[in-house]
Amino acid sequence: MAAVEQSAPTRHPDVRNYINGSYVDAPGRDYLDVTNPADGSVISRVPLSGAGDVDRAVDAARAAFPGWSATPIKERVQVFYRYKALLEKNIDELAALVSEENGKVRNEAAAEVLKSAELCEFAVSLPQIVAGEVLEVSRGVECRVERYPLGVVASITPFNFPNMVPNWTIPNAIGLGNCMILKPSEQVPLSAGRIAELLREAGLPDGVINVVHGGQETVEAICDNPFIEAVSFVGSTHVAKIVYRRGSHNLKRVLALGGAKNHLIVMPDAEPEMTSTNVVASMSGCAGQRCMAASVMMAVGKTDHIVDRMAAIVRAMVPGTHLGPVISKAAKERIERYITEAEEAGAKVLVDGRGFKVPGRENGYYIGPTLIDHVTPDMRIAQEEVFGPVMVIVRAKDVDEALTVQQRSPYGNAASIFTESGAVARYAMEKASAGMVGVNVGVPVPREPFGFGGWNDSKFGAGDITGRGSIEFWTKSKKMTTKWNKEAGVNWMS
Ligand code: NAD
Repeated sequence: MAAVEQSAPTRHPDVRNYINGSYVDAPGRDYLDVTNPADGSVISRVPLSGAGDVDRAVDAARAAFPGWSATPIKERVQVFYRYKALLEKNIDELAALVSEENGKVRNEAAAEVLKSAELCEFAVSLPQIVAGEVLEVSRGVECRVERYPLGVVASITPFNFPNMVPNWTIPNAIGLGNCMILKPSEQVPLSAGRIAELLREAGLPDGVINVVHGGQETVEAICDNPFIEAVSFVGSTHVAKIVYRRGSHNLKRVLALGGAKNHLIVMPDAEPEMTSTNVVASMSGCAGQRCMAASVMMAVGKTDHIVDRMAAIVRAMVPGTHLGPVISKAAKERIERYITEAEEAGAKVLVDGRGFKVPGRENGYYIGPTLIDHVTPDMRIAQEEVFGPVMVIVRAKDVDEALTVQQRSPYGNAASIFTESGAVARYAMEKASAGMVGVNVGVPVPREPFGFGGWNDSKFGAGDITGRGSIEFWTKSKKMTTKWNKEAGVNWMS
């Protein structure tokens, strides 16, 4: 991405890095325009930070670590009680910011902020969850396990949830005693600054969270920095692999969540009204820019009555009101190319969202929700992540044929089945090759305390990014063996 010079006044001042509780410049660095996808207007500029900026943030985090990690966990999580309340108090402003930089409609943005608040609920319960284990392992010999924070950790996040995805990692990693470098997507850098400000207002000591803005070079500097112990990443599979390889090569702990291609299997006995509304909501929510969005519907047997209902619902949806734009002009063009290619390959476009213009926002990157029927599994649109409001329908004769298509996908984030049969549902849940599966649920996100994380090319590394699975990732355990009796005898372990 080329850096650009500022040519017109912007709504927000230039974005600045946030280090040790203060905003600082990234001296000598190029800047990139930040646009509002709803109208294409430039709303700010973001610095593309380099290794020196990452070093400064890491220095601040290292300095803060001894004090923060020595603070008792019950005291540390008090910050997240207050932060949760601040997220709720400021929800209108935070949702407006998400909406402005990401494009999603206001109620979706507000739901995102509420989800961030919910993530704090898990973090404030950490003292109850991480209490150690202790056992007398032989006569008078006791073994106990205690958890320690890793030190300085990094969180690299994507454009599609500017508020929620940073909050997948911040409350747990910091609540468990780590200090963090947050590197938000350069496409949506504004929410991260407000998150850091609210954490400060909630009482987080300076240096415990630091925000460094930028793109590829910034991420590479994070992966190479010798004082960063662990890196979490959420974004595309292509970059997840780069970050996983580079961070692991530098002997860091890495958890990298990648892209997705999620299949919904619709059986002929599925409840028509519930199924059609849920399937459409899954593919069109956040304009299809969710890693949990349905993108392939496996229509098994006689399901035309459900497809017809879906088409009616989709036709009634109004871009700009019911769904926002996609993130950029490039994304809009890419998604529209996928649709055109599928049509040329013989698929039938039932509802066509290409070329959609919202009156008054003609420069916005809108695509209407799109339904494409009679797609075959070998078409690119059935295999690759489209990341837009597009649902392809692949016809299958039975549940096994549908499952085979799902299992062949290199991804494995989510899969769901719509049916009234418990036996078929259980069978599909067992056979689907995905980390998050559902029955009669369009978006099978496991809420806390359950962890979020897929399989295959949708996740690299052990553990999950939220919930219980994240505790293992953000801490290291110490096993302590003690003997306080006067027994003089020895055995093999003495
Ligand atoms: P992206 O991979 O382009 O960017 C993610 C982060 O990586 C950003 O911070 C970006 O600055 C950085 N980055 C981009 N290119 C890089 C490079 N070459 N080297 C190093 N760093 C680089 O992803 P995106 O477009 O911002 O987000 C959309 C993607 O994220 C989709 O694929 C979506 O499925 C995925 N996603 C996955 C999950 C999940 O839980 N699995 C959740 C949300 C989004």
